[in-house]
Amino acid sequence: MPYCNVCDKNVLSRVYDMHRQEHIEEFKKKEYNVKFKQDALIYFTEEKKPYKIRAFDNRFAVCTKPYNPKHTVLYTIVDFEKNIRGTEDLIFCEGFETDEDCKLAIHRLSNWETEVSKRTKIPLNIKQII
Ligand SMILES: [Zn+2]
Repeated sequence: MPYCNVCDKNVLSRVYDMHRQEHIEEFKKKEYNVKFKQDALIYFTEEKKPYKIRAFDNRFAVCTKPYNPKHTVLYTIVDFEKNIRGTEDLIFCEGFETDEDCKLAIHRLSNWETEVSKRTKIPLNIKQII
């Protein structure tokens, strides 16, 4: 029987997808104690320069900052449920240049298609949001 790591139970195979979908919907309704604003600047204690909040939902926020040597952006994803941030767990890196790219990432994360990478995650230390 497949195992559900959210409720810590084995679930019948034939209802597993539906069961997981219910959890996904639960998480989308969950409230976290943080209020975000589009394009707000977020400072983390580990880094001097802020990131800009490009897309978010109740649980995740995709934040980017310019990375000039490569004319692209660096990104980090905040996960309030796990209190961590890091890059997306993807084999091929998707773009994070446009707001649309960032919204798509939120969509993937909130539907559990991807998560914040276990390799790159660090504890969430927000210094300031302005
Ligand atoms: Zn479950």
